[in-house]
Amino acid sequence: MASLLFGLALAAPHAQTPLAGSEVLLPAYAAALVVIELVTGALLLALFSVHRILAVMLLAAAYLFSGLMAVPWALTFPGVFDAMGLPPAGPQTTASIAAVRRLGFALLLLTYAVLACRQTRRAAPRYSGMVIAACILAVFAAAAGLAVLIIRNDALLPRFMMDAATITVNWTYFAVLVAAVYAATLAILLLRGWSVLDLWLTVVTFSLLIDILMLSFISEGLRLSLGWWAGRLYGLVAAMVVLLVLLAQTTALSAQLTRAVAAERRAREARLLSMQALSASIAHEVNQPLASMVTNADAGLRWLARNPPDLAETRAALERIGREGLRAGRIIDGIRAIFRKGGQERAALDLNRLLQAVLTRCEAEARPHGVTLELRLGERLPPVSGSAAQLEQVVSNLATNAFEAMSGIKGRPLVLRITSHAAPEGEVQVSFADTGHGVAEEQRRHIFEPFFTTKPEGTGMGLMYCQSILEAHGGRLWVEDNVPHGAIFHFALPAAPGAAAPRDIAA
Ligand code: ADP
Repeated sequence: MASLLFGLALAAPHAQTPLAGSEVLLPAYAAALVVIELVTGALLLALFSVHRILAVMLLAAAYLFSGLMAVPWALTFPGVFDAMGLPPAGPQTTASIAAVRRLGFALLLLTYAVLACRQTRRAAPRYSGMVIAACILAVFAAAAGLAVLIIRNDALLPRFMMDAATITVNWTYFAVLVAAVYAATLAILLLRGWSVLDLWLTVVTFSLLIDILMLSFISEGLRLSLGWWAGRLYGLVAAMVVLLVLLAQTTALSAQLTRAVAAERRAREARLLSMQALSASIAHEVNQPLASMVTNADAGLRWLARNPPDLAETRAALERIGREGLRAGRIIDGIRAIFRKGGQERAALDLNRLLQAVLTRCEAEARPHGVTLELRLGERLPPVSGSAAQLEQVVSNLATNAFEAMSGIKGRPLVLRITSHAAPEGEVQVSFADTGHGVAEEQRRHIFEPFFTTKPEGTGMGLMYCQSILEAHGGRLWVEDNVPHGAIFHFALPAAPGAAAPRDIAA
């Protein structure tokens, strides 16, 4: 606002200097004004269609009305469009159109300020399209009707102009009225809490106030004088301010929208990936008990087909099927708990007992591979807090991987040595050292990724699943080379809170 006042101070001393021949600039000025005001009106209507605040629609109507009225104003301006052969307008026509345009805009702006200040009456969503259409129609009808009325009835109009260039005292009274409306609008806008739009409307109103002062008083109402043109320039600045603010806001909004859409797409892809991971890990983990159930069902049938049927063996096979079924159910629960995040049932667990239980089951699996299992469990292991079903899965996965890594290897002892010990940092560490083919350097970075596998029948989910479980328990999983052959998979889990400090390290 200070710069607006500075401009006023600069122009004031020369305000009455006439700029002869400057009417050639008028069409360019009018065209700019019409385009800027109509675009501003359209953007404000777009804003209304989003927020549906009626006050914003009134502001849009103000800009549309002002933009439309600028057309007959320019067309009737004396000496500008004569070459086009338009019938000459009466001496009061242009000034009266200007008066109606200015008063209409000022009153609508004042109504906006009053309404927006009272806070937001909103149109119902389904009516907003109709409200916009009605607003555009009403403004068009008002502008066209008033323009025709003024042009046809020059003799009845109040006398604003003495001749083609000089105003009468009537215009001065009118200017005082418009300035008073602007001053009231300015006061309301200054007093209330501002939105960004209101803040800039204050600047707009202030420049329009200077515009009317320049036009009517400082230039002594002399058309096409320096002060008159300076007033026009303020009018143009006023028209541009809201347009620029709206454009900046629209750009910021569309950038925000683009970012939101991209984030939503990323979230959807992540959800899809986690669904793929979930289904692949269910398949991976449940295959094992299912295979065992099928084997036991075959065995049961064979025991039954004997003559006489071996009922004791059949019962044992059925019991194993039942146990494997329950295990499959527990596995599925465990997988669901991982993806539920934070929903796992935790209990204090003795990892040594868990290792023994799982590895007893694994012995049958080790035998066909010709693998010897060695269990070296540390004493006085502190308990860990976790889900038994999930940690059993980790142990059984790591053991199965080790058996598969040793399968087909000849000429050296095939051993899976499992050790547990209490690590000094309040952790319990378990290691699976095998004498298999080991993990190649270039594969080491990928083996924990979902779907990475080097096995023809592999799913590449096992290690990813183990890692997710251990990390969800606050632990970690890593791999090292075994010397001279094979790999060692280590995992560490934090001791349960309040557990006794470890005093023993395993052999
Ligand atoms: P899958 O067993 O279905 O291949 P995993 O995620 O369990 O999926 O394992 C990924 C890959 O890590 C395996 O294909 C294998 O190449 C490698 N790997 C896992 N465990 C061992 C091991 N004990 N020794 C050597 N390589 C292993």
